[in-house]
Parts: sequence; C-alpha cells; structure tokens
Amino acid sequence: MSKLPNEAFRDTIGTIDEEGKRKFIFPKKPSGKFYDYRKWVSYFLLIILVANPFIKVNGNQFMMFNILERRFNIFGFPFWPQDFYIFVLFMIVGVVFVILFTVIFGRIFCGWICPQTIFLELVFRRIEYWIEGDRGAQIRLSKQEWNEDKIKKKGFKWFLFLLISFAIANVFLAYLIGSDALIQMIEDGPETHTSTLIALSIFTGVFYFIFVWFREQVCIIACPYGRLQGVLLDNKSINVAYDFVRGEKEEGRAKFNKQEDRASTGKGDCIDCKQCVNVCPTGIDIRNGTQLECVNCTACIDECDVIMESVGLPKGLIRYASEDEIEKKEPFKFTARMKGYSAILLILVGILTGLLFLRTEVEAVILRLPGQLFEHKGDNISNIYTYKVINKTNNDFKDIHFELVGIKGTLKLVGNQHLKVVKQGMSSGTMFIEINQNLLESDKTKLKIEVYDGNKKIETSTTSFLSPRSFD
Ligand code: SF4
Ligand code: SF4
Repeated sequence: MSKLPNEAFRDTIGTIDEEGKRKFIFPKKPSGKFYDYRKWVSYFLLIILVANPFIKVNGNQFMMFNILERRFNIFGFPFWPQDFYIFVLFMIVGVVFVILFTVIFGRIFCGWICPQTIFLELVFRRIEYWIEGDRGAQIRLSKQEWNEDKIKKKGFKWFLFLLISFAIANVFLAYLIGSDALIQMIEDGPETHTSTLIALSIFTGVFYFIFVWFREQVCIIACPYGRLQGVLLDNKSINVAYDFVRGEKEEGRAKFNKQEDRASTGKGDCIDCKQCVNVCPTGIDIRNGTQLECVNCTACIDECDVIMESVGLPKGLIRYASEDEIEKKEPFKFTARMKGYSAILLILVGILTGLLFLRTEVEAVILRLPGQLFEHKGDNISNIYTYKVINKTNNDFKDIHFELVGIKGTLKLVGNQHLKVVKQGMSSGTMFIEINQNLLESDKTKLKIEVYDGNKKIETSTTSFLSPRSFD
C-alpha cells in the first residue's frame, strides 16, 4: 500500500490514551444494509448457539465439550477419550478451514460469526443504545455527575448485562457438562450442587467483566486469531478496506464544498467527515489501511455509503476489497496459496470422514496384565488379562460375554461371567485364559476374542498369549 503521510497510529491502539490508560469507546450506532444483514445473521447464530446443547441426535447432545470427563459430542457424534485422535483431527480441520477462510475472506469470521462480536455488538451494545442513547448521549452521560438519571440508566443497564451474562454462563455450562446434567441440577436446586453454583458464578463474573469493561480489548489484545492476521492476510485477501486511490486522488482528502466541482479539483472522494472513525467499535481509522484492530464489522462501510450518497458521490469508498483490487485494479484470483490450503483441507476432510465411518460403536480392549508372564496349571498355561468394554451407543448391553475363537481354551472373568454395560458407559475387570500347552505353536500366540451381547457379536478384539519357550 502506498505510504500514508501520518504513521503515528501504528504506535498506539485506539483504546489506550497517551498515558497508557483505558480509553472507552463510544461508537456511533451503526445502521445500513450490512448492519441489517448482520442483525439477521446474529439472530440465526444466537438461536443455534443457545439451542445446540439442547438438541439431541440419536440420543446424543448435538454439541458437548465435557472437558472434565473428556467426552465430546460434535454434530451428535460422541467422542470418547479413545477417539481423541478423531477429535484432534476434527480440530485441525477446523483450524485449516479458518486459515483458508481468512486467507481468502480476511476477518469475515470476526465480524459476522465470532460469538464475542455477536454478543458485544449485536446484543450488549444494542441494549446500551436503547438505554443510554447514541454516541453523543453516551459520552455526555459518562461525563456527567452521578445524579438520579445516571444511576437509573447505568444501574438498569448493568442489571440487564448481569442477567444476560448469567444466561450465557448457563448455556456455556450446558456445553461443558451436558444439558441433561444442567437441567437436573436446576431441578435439584443450588444447595445440592454448590461446586456447580460456584462455577456458574465465576463464568457469570467473567462474561460480565468482558461485556461491561474489557469489551473490544478481547479482539485487540487477547484473541490469538486476531494476532495471526499479520501472517494470514496478504494483498489478495478480501477485507473491509478504504479505497485510498479514489479517496485520496492527487490532492488528498478534503472537506466537502457544495460550491466547487470536486472532480476538477483533484481532491479525493473522502470528505474527511470522520464518520467511519466515529462508528468504529475498535476506535480505529480504516483510512490508515488494514489494521490488527479491525474486526471487519462493516459498520464503516454502511456509514461511508450514507455520506457518499448525501454528497452525490458513488458508494463503496469503503468496501470489501483486496489491496491489489484497489491499487492495481486486479480482480479476485484463486492464488496458489489458496489452492494449497484447499488441497490440504480436502485431504483432511477425506481422512476425517473415513475415520468417522470406520469408528466402532463398541470398543473392547483386552491387555495382558503388566508384569505378569504365565502360570502352569497342569497341562494348561494360564495368562491373566485386564479388559475394558466401552459402549458408545445409546442402548444398554445387558448380557456381555467373551468367546475365544480359532483355538480351544477357557476364558473366565473374575466375578460375574456375564457383564452389563449401560449406554455411553464402560465396564472393566480381569480375566484368565487357559490353553493346553500342546495346542500352542509359539511362545507368543496371537488370540482372537469375540465379544457378544446375548447372541449378537458386537466386537472382535485381539491380544497375545505367552507360554514357555519350549517350541524352539
Ligand atoms: S466516512 Fe467516508 S468520507 Fe467520511 S471520513 Fe470516512 S472514508 Fe472519508
Ligand atoms: S474499521 Fe470498519 S470494519 Fe474495521 S472494526 Fe472499524 S468499523 Fe468495523
């Protein structure tokens, strides 16, 4: 990009003053085509976000991230700790998708999809505009003494913010521990679930702090995705951008003068009204070029379009465009970098789909007890094993038993010979296998064990059987 005369903006961020103190931003209330679209997208996404933990697919919560029990449901697929590799791959696919998306469309995710932006800009700030009024009224209110009017407005706003933070904390908890568990806890009452109540209070406090005070600092300082923009974006990425060629022309930006024929003066189309700055929720001036703080919220596009219309100039001085499109008039191209990321994404999605289809609903793990060799029992050799049967289905297994196949021998569980494994549950224990030593052909025989629920075979597992080295 051509170098703009004043680069001082690079030394500071819009939300910190010269003394290093927090500077609160009072953005003008956005309005316009993109803001309306964003409102509809936000309603849709908020419904999905709130409904997700309460939707069930085949009895499984649609989305669940139970970190404590290491159980995750994604799109209704339950992932156990044993499926962790699939979950990790799922996350990698997500990251590559976001990278590809960012390389092509810049920070479109931040402006349109990110829950932080949606809650801050399209929930909390809208309440703020409703109670405190637009930018000017908010600035006046913040400067005025604590009189009755200010106490009422601020108190009401903070009360509503607290209620919404509490509601968000509940939804967050439903993702973490599961909606069934959350509903059960609500029915039982808070006194029987003190630890959950403490967690809920902490989450509420965190959300309240973020939306009342920390706000856009999340995007500017804390968000790792925001920090990655510098490496992901290039001149071909589409971003909310100021058309500096048109806006500055030969003579630079200048105030609008009704009396002059602007086209003949060489002045740029930007009339320096600063409305794009006033409306920006991160307090930046988009005319300085692509900046880390810009969350691509499109508010400046809408605002500038209104100004351009009012002075009879074409809209789109600020618009979605790549730097090459603005500077070299190059149309969008699917670059080699984009092709590379797309290819990686396709391969990963292919592997993930394959793994999802190959993933078994029942898992039986039979392992020799560590440190134990074998035992002679007359003509028989005995090995001891631990077993684990995981039921990932939504049906209880009421009559699980094991059968040795391909070789004659006995298999005995310690305790009950027939197991029960409840849905989404696990059963584990110890078993002995005894085989006549004349039947063994090596000191380490591979065994195949079938697992049945009643008469139905549900899984086949393998393990090894040790015996003396008398076969050499
Ligand atoms: S809103 Fe448009 S015309 Fe006004 S300062 Fe911003 S870019 Fe220039
Ligand atoms: S510069 Fe424009 S798109 Fe970027 S955050 Fe500010 S208002 Fe939103």
